[in-house]
Amino acid sequence: MTSGSARSATSVKTTCAYCGVGCGIIATVEAQGVRIQGDPAHPANFGRLCSKGAALGETLDLEGRLLAPRLYGQECDWDSALAAVAEGLQDVIRRHGPEAVAFYVSGQLLTEDYYVANKLMKGFIGSANIDTNSRLCMASSVAGHKRAFGTDTVPGCYEDLEEAELVVLAGANSAWCHPVLFQRLRAAREHRPAQRVVVIDPRRTATAEEADLHLALAPGTDTVLWNGLLHHLRRHGAVDFAFLERHCQGYADALEAARRSAPSIPAVARACGLAEADVATFYNWFLSTEKVVSAYSQGVNQSTCGTDKVNAILNCHLLTGRIGRPGMGPFSLTGQPNAMGGREVGGLANQLAAHLDLEDPTHRELVQTFWQAPTLPRGPGLKAVEMFEAMAAGRIKTVWIMGTNPVVSLPDADRAREALRRCELVVVSDCMAETDTTACAHILLPALAWGEKDGTVTNSERRISRQRAFLPPPGEARPDWWIVSAVARRMGFTAAFDYHNPAQIFREHAALSGFRPEVRRDFDISALAGLDDAAYDALQPLQWPVNERHPGGRARLFGDGAFYTPQGKARLVAIEPRPPAHAPDREYPLVLNTGRVRDQWHTMTRTGKSPRLAAHLPVPYVEIHPVDAISFRLQDGAIARLRSRWGEMLARVRCSEKQRPGSIFVPMHWNDQFARHARVDALVNPATDPLSGEPEFKHTPVRVEPWPAAWYGFVLAAREVDIPQAEYCVRIRASDHFRYEIAGLQPIEDHPAWARSFLCTPDAAAEWTDYLDRAGGRYRGLRIQRGRLDSCVFLSQRPDLPAPDWPGSFFGRDHLPARDRLSLLAGQPPRDAPDAGPIVCACFGVGEKTLVEAIQRQGLRDVAAIGARLKAGTNCGSCIPELKSLIAKNAALDGHSRD
Ligand code: SF4
Repeated sequence: MTSGSARSATSVKTTCAYCGVGCGIIATVEAQGVRIQGDPAHPANFGRLCSKGAALGETLDLEGRLLAPRLYGQECDWDSALAAVAEGLQDVIRRHGPEAVAFYVSGQLLTEDYYVANKLMKGFIGSANIDTNSRLCMASSVAGHKRAFGTDTVPGCYEDLEEAELVVLAGANSAWCHPVLFQRLRAAREHRPAQRVVVIDPRRTATAEEADLHLALAPGTDTVLWNGLLHHLRRHGAVDFAFLERHCQGYADALEAARRSAPSIPAVARACGLAEADVATFYNWFLSTEKVVSAYSQGVNQSTCGTDKVNAILNCHLLTGRIGRPGMGPFSLTGQPNAMGGREVGGLANQLAAHLDLEDPTHRELVQTFWQAPTLPRGPGLKAVEMFEAMAAGRIKTVWIMGTNPVVSLPDADRAREALRRCELVVVSDCMAETDTTACAHILLPALAWGEKDGTVTNSERRISRQRAFLPPPGEARPDWWIVSAVARRMGFTAAFDYHNPAQIFREHAALSGFRPEVRRDFDISALAGLDDAAYDALQPLQWPVNERHPGGRARLFGDGAFYTPQGKARLVAIEPRPPAHAPDREYPLVLNTGRVRDQWHTMTRTGKSPRLAAHLPVPYVEIHPVDAISFRLQDGAIARLRSRWGEMLARVRCSEKQRPGSIFVPMHWNDQFARHARVDALVNPATDPLSGEPEFKHTPVRVEPWPAAWYGFVLAAREVDIPQAEYCVRIRASDHFRYEIAGLQPIEDHPAWARSFLCTPDAAAEWTDYLDRAGGRYRGLRIQRGRLDSCVFLSQRPDLPAPDWPGSFFGRDHLPARDRLSLLAGQPPRDAPDAGPIVCACFGVGEKTLVEAIQRQGLRDVAAIGARLKAGTNCGSCIPELKSLIAKNAALDGHSRD
């Protein structure tokens, strides 16, 4: 394959399924599976991949896939399913009007899928009740961009982070959530050691570990910090008056609001819980550095004042004119692979296609004419949280959910499930058969998955890339655009949805973006409207706009001061800091912050299949400061119950000084398919930002208490099992077995009977051996089948169990000798099976204990030395921050322990 070509006989160039970095991938189908490599020619990653992208090949099997339509639990043919969906929608529209139907879509959809869904709902059903799970991650950036720029535009590109002299990462754990972009930043710093990085985050994340300055501000105080910066910049002469006068408005009010709310560095430091010296350092670095990029993500967006936080950041860049030029600008990092594509086609309830506005009559008329649509709603539809509230209230009678899992991911998630149960008709298009959301569906429609589907995605820097299929469609699965178009045709909209391939849809999308160019807008890819199918297939990554003026795309916007407000000027917005919706109190004294972990993605439907990825952080956990852990009687490794006003969950306690006292962190990923009582969003406050509708995922008051487990344990089994009496149960995929972390509230009376009830199937050739220490509350049992280890169980009254890795290593063996059987019963690893500890490097399976021993005993002092000795950190690089942290923590001890 040449660097420019999209396909060879065996390899296909495509784009990663996960985050908004949008890395290029070369997928090669081989006899033993699919080989995944970074695409060296793709401008987002230049060949790099993170742990998630590198493990994509492990997630392509058909286990658990939805491969045929299902109507009320019964498999059926497509004709029956499509007719049922079309008739169901029409019936509700006839009886209750178009506002009684809703689509809830996803940043996982391709742009072509998104375009067709939006066109059907807004143009032909005539409602704006289509919203997307992107509402949950970047809607505040959209609203902030529109307030400031008049349009939803990310002004810069990834090179800006490399070229900047100061990079501010606000509410963005990029080392884990945008790893390849972080790797690019790290590589740039190696060549430009003067470059500084400031991280603004209440937690000392892996990203903060590598920063020159970490501002661990009190949760919810971001606007004070940024207002203080605006005021400081004004007072110390950093205003770009020429830019401000010519291209901006609203600055007097913005500056006055900043002065009032953040009058001095001491006042800011007090309000934000920071040291004055640290605030002063940040402000002075920003003041004295021309090339500044402020990149921000969910820590800014997911808040009831997320839009204000975004505008507080944009204000500082507008005041100084640092926007749209190389190495400078504000930069919203999107979470999902195609959140940006969804924005382009109007996947949000308050947008029209092609970055046009629903509330603007000229825009409505433009789109209606282009689509030849019978109708268009005159105002915005219901945003995600409102949409589910309307279902709960009975105003929305039917919903079609595409490629997302709201029963896990919406705030107040138990209520979201209840809302679905109240709908007359729930249709779910998904590639997986069993999710927490498909469990609520009346009709299930099998969609294609990554590797099978074909279309385009847009990454955080406005770069449109092709996702190409390299696997055949399995079973009856179909592309989302095909499913939506087929339903639309059955609803009578035959001509408007006569699509035969994604290229045809892309051409229409591109043509709409250039239709009536006198209506000025930023999103314009009209130069691509004439691509034939072959050219579409070969389309190379490029950044919009792509039009007559910029046929090869454009890396940066707004450097020329041309904004899209009616006056053509950017707006600085006066920001009055507001506290989060609910403050902690005596009943709920801690602040819950939710987010991603390094090696999982969303609700784990794909990453949960990869043993490599499961090895890093395998169970849902609550990270808490050790002082808080003492206050709340929590023991490291034990199980805690978390409660909020909205719900509760169970999680393992991880004590960490990286956590700010008073705050806790819980990952967002786990759900009923992988763990019992582990959906953190069941706890999350459903309060939303009044402008963006984005929920407050980073600030829910909670309390945490010890969960009175009577016993703890783990089970390893060659197959999936259903474990009784374990209220706490987490299923983890290992390479050749399943692992279950378990605990229960009621003592187990008869250990052997309990263990055999779920591990032993009738088989005369199988033998069960066990050991019970009744006084010590310990039990171990193992089942051998034809000489091989079939399953084993370890129980204890305390969370002091051995690491499960060495028993797991016995599964691949044809024969388990007596020595190893004894070691299992004794709960002691054999001498030649040392415990590697929790996995740090997912690519090479290197554990924490191995690393610590190498650092202490072999005197390894840097990441390169560890890589040379153990290979850790030499592939995707996602674990490098953790390696650095281990070196920092353990290198000092080596003098005592080196041989
Ligand atoms: Fe995929 Fe990782 Fe690149 Fe994100 S950074 S697109 S998850 S390879």
